[in-house]
Amino acid sequence: MGPAGTPSGDLEFKAERSPFAVRLTGRALAQLIAMCIAAGRDETGGLLIGRYSPDHRTAIVEIATGPGGDSRAGRAWLIRGVKGLQRLLDGLWSRSGGYYLGEWHFHPGASPTPSRQDVSQMRAIAESARYHCPEPVLAILGGEPGGDYLLRVEVFGRGGRRVPLTRVKQ
Ligand SMILES: [Zn+2]
Repeated sequence: MGPAGTPSGDLEFKAERSPFAVRLTGRALAQLIAMCIAAGRDETGGLLIGRYSPDHRTAIVEIATGPGGDSRAGRAWLIRGVKGLQRLLDGLWSRSGGYYLGEWHFHPGASPTPSRQDVSQMRAIAESARYHCPEPVLAILGGEPGGDYLLRVEVFGRGGRRVPLTRVKQ
């Protein structure tokens, strides 16, 4: 991987009229797809962890975690609760060497369009002091993770503004 290039296997997403961008590394994408395949027809999801580019415009997702040991199957990030959340966020850097960037989850066999619940949860995260993440990323994988899947990536900007990103073809 050259300094100006993108390592092969990474996906780049950019906003049309704002500086937001997300790079989903091939490693994180592979983790995410494997967890969706393992989940079968159940929803699953977890955290996006990584870092920001030096100009802070690109969130670079290096790790996609699973729902975590204390979550029940299903929409893990909705039932995580304050206690579980604090444990997840505490020591995130020392465990993984990355920052909390946002959330991902799976819409098995369905469209990756965020539900109203997804949107309100992301807005709550953006406003929560616990996350220290005022512009969180939401990635949703829909369809068939082993075959034809669709990936939707949005940033939730300040004031609850939704910024959909589109994939940059390489
Ligand atoms: Zn959803």
